[in-house]
Amino acid sequence: MIDTKWAFQRYESLRAALPAAQFPLTSRSGLDLSDTTADYDAYILDAFGVLNRGETAIEGAVERMAALRALGKRLIVLTNAASYTRAEILAKYHRLGFDFDATEVVSSRDVAFANLPQLPGSQVWGAAAAFGDDFSDAPVSARVAHLAENPDLLHSAGGILLLSSARWSESNTAAVVQALQDRPRPLVVANPDLVAPREEGLSLEPGLIAHDIIAKTGLRAEFFGKPYGNAFEVALDRLTGIPRHRIAMVGDTLHTDVLGGAAAGIGTILVTDHGLFRGHEIAPFIRSSAIRPDWVVTTT
Ligand SMILES: [Mg+2]
Repeated sequence: MIDTKWAFQRYESLRAALPAAQFPLTSRSGLDLSDTTADYDAYILDAFGVLNRGETAIEGAVERMAALRALGKRLIVLTNAASYTRAEILAKYHRLGFDFDATEVVSSRDVAFANLPQLPGSQVWGAAAAFGDDFSDAPVSARVAHLAENPDLLHSAGGILLLSSARWSESNTAAVVQALQDRPRPLVVANPDLVAPREEGLSLEPGLIAHDIIAKTGLRAEFFGKPYGNAFEVALDRLTGIPRHRIAMVGDTLHTDVLGGAAAGIGTILVTDHGLFRGHEIAPFIRSSAIRPDWVVTTT
């Protein structure tokens, strides 16, 4: 059963593979981000669980972004969403009413493509990707094709690239495990999340598939996105001139947003009402993981 406690325990079981970080001894509590504005000059915002839940904007989030801008705060969206190009992500946020521009959005997909290892010869990446993805934002030197539409790629691809779980099932995992056992190849994961909050509940994400493959093959994978420093450094590069302690990561998860933010040396704010911990008392999860945010707020 995929629920919050299950996802939390799965994240905890992976702690050795996640960055190390230091946390404050106590968290401050607030109602929303307006309570935190004396502490920070810039906010790095998670998307799912902070700005939106699935295809719906979180109530008050559009207005909060405008209010933060009016106070002179800098805003960056840092999302592990890798199913869509940055242009498509931007279009989605504009549709939901947000006014972010292209320089204010960093996706784990961008980070993965910017760091995609070179495969020998003209070998192709076999990608788990959403229907219609044309990989037009992949580096020109990389060839990427859909695993779902080219089953031969299981054997012929030079590497496996996990962008999206949209068209994935258990049988796909079994097929990739078998193919990588037959011939080990690089595995790149452009979304380290295990689950994501949608309108109808939690969806399974590429990080979960990757850890399943790793456990069954003993192979390693290269992860891009939160909680890893590769994603935070790209976001922080957009905020040069602002000291790290005056920047806060705002997110709905302890193991990606708060852990990653703390590991990057910035402040952390956990939003509890819309994402992974929606409907749950947060204190036991903080106690048991010892991942403690600087602030806990109920909404954005
Ligand atoms: Mg989230």
